[in-house]
Amino acid sequence: MHVPLLIIGGGLSGLAAALRTARFVPDVLLLEKHSRIGGLNSYYYRNNRLFETGLHAITNYAPPKVKNAPLNRLLRQLKIKRSELDLHEQNQSEIRFLGRESLLFSNNFSLLESQIADKFPASCQGFLKLKELIEQYDPFKPLPFISAKKILMEHLHDDLLTDMLLCPLMYYGSSIENDMDLGQFVIMFKAIFLEGMFRPGGTIKDLLDLLQKHYTDHGGSIRTQAGVQRILHSGNRIHGVLLSNGEEILCDHILSTIGSEETFALLDKVSGYKILPRLGFVETIFELKEDSTLKHSHDRTIIFFNSADRFSYQQPQTLVDFKSGVICMPQNFQNLPGVPFKEVRTTHLANYSEWQNLQKENNSYSSAKEETALSSLPVAEKILGNFAQNIVYHDTFTPLTIERYTSKINGAIYGNPIKIKNGDIGYDNLYLAGTDQGFLGIIGSMLSGVSIVNQHILPRL
Ligand SMILES: Cc1cc2nc3c(=O)[nH]c(=O)nc-3n(C[C@H](O)[C@H](O)[C@H](O)COP(=O)(O)OP(=O)(O)OC[C@H]3O[C@@H](n4cnc5c(N)ncnc54)[C@H](O)[C@@H]3O)c2cc1C
Repeated sequence: MHVPLLIIGGGLSGLAAALRTARFVPDVLLLEKHSRIGGLNSYYYRNNRLFETGLHAITNYAPPKVKNAPLNRLLRQLKIKRSELDLHEQNQSEIRFLGRESLLFSNNFSLLESQIADKFPASCQGFLKLKELIEQYDPFKPLPFISAKKILMEHLHDDLLTDMLLCPLMYYGSSIENDMDLGQFVIMFKAIFLEGMFRPGGTIKDLLDLLQKHYTDHGGSIRTQAGVQRILHSGNRIHGVLLSNGEEILCDHILSTIGSEETFALLDKVSGYKILPRLGFVETIFELKEDSTLKHSHDRTIIFFNSADRFSYQQPQTLVDFKSGVICMPQNFQNLPGVPFKEVRTTHLANYSEWQNLQKENNSYSSAKEETALSSLPVAEKILGNFAQNIVYHDTFTPLTIERYTSKINGAIYGNPIKIKNGDIGYDNLYLAGTDQGFLGIIGSMLSGVSIVNQHILPRL
């Protein structure tokens, strides 16, 4: 078998890249190791219903008239109509530093501006200057690391406000500990605060089915349970791949979306990059009775919280760091058609190696998952009021779950801290897109797939 383009990985970057290419060259083949597409953004069935992984809220909301907004550009590139996605904006979200301060924000930026003016009046002018800087900054210009934390402090002169603004941006898009590169900060600030968050009316399965249908309608093909074991090459030129079932597929070009180190491993090559800590997360999904209500903050979409003196975004020494995290209520988006489910999802930073050590001991892995849910519950109840009595089912996933279903090294959602922004990993006809290209999140990873195809692949096919 021979194809012009072979894409490794059926996550959102791979799917978007495949669809973009198939619009012009139908003979694209997408290979996915798992039995289901979606990667970090997928779904599974338990307790007679569908559970989503990796979808709290989609960032980069834009109304239809803002033609140049990332969301609208993406839809145009993929030829998907907005109406097919059935977009629902968030209600409002919150950054809550317990016992200190709280900031509300929504898809209307003036809410955050007025909250900062009320609660941090001394930083208000600095915040407006920071916003100007963000609007003018080109995050794609290749520059050495610039500390976003330092820039925030220079503008705001306030530790607490700096930590509060960084908290959601780090949780939703930083692969490095306790700071962000200014370029990544700018991308995330625009995506979360200036543009805002939404979700589709259906589940993540509906979104994946939609992408798959558009792609196969153009003539593209997908093979699941088709893990690539090796990339075949002579020197810097790629010829094809060897699948784990022994089958060989030849191709002119490869786009890999599985991560940089993960791709180098298929080439029997070590990247030589410095090994930096990779961030892991645990998430518990508490399914609630349909008619249950939450006592406090019941209308919030997402709450980013911290209970420590300073916000620490780093790999904990223990299994889980419950001092900070994200609480998501996926039913709280405007005018959702039949609310698909009533849930509280809690996410915290976790230590991959600690979880891995446990797996070797009989039964202790599953009891640690149960203890994680039990410890996360009071943390969420402190913010939402008691809801334990309304829980009908719960499930927890760990960095090991992520590793098992996506083959990400250390189950690190945001991948390698070193990003390869131009997608060039030193081969003539092999390119990198997705998490390790540096665009994170659902819209980010899809844009990554599309932009690498536009830049490197379409001109050569
Ligand atoms: C708990 C959680 C919450 C999240 N919340 C949000 C959110 O609210 N909003 C948001 O925008 N983003 C969120 N994200 C992030 C978002 O899901 C990811 O950034 C995005 O999906 C990454 O897509 P990707 O295609 O780059 O990578 P992946 O999804 O990792 O796709 C890579 C694919 O490659 C496959 N693969 C690996 N090795 C091989 C191989 N050898 N051969 C064939 N296939 C292989 C994997 O199985 C996988 O399907 C969340 C993620 C998680 C896990």
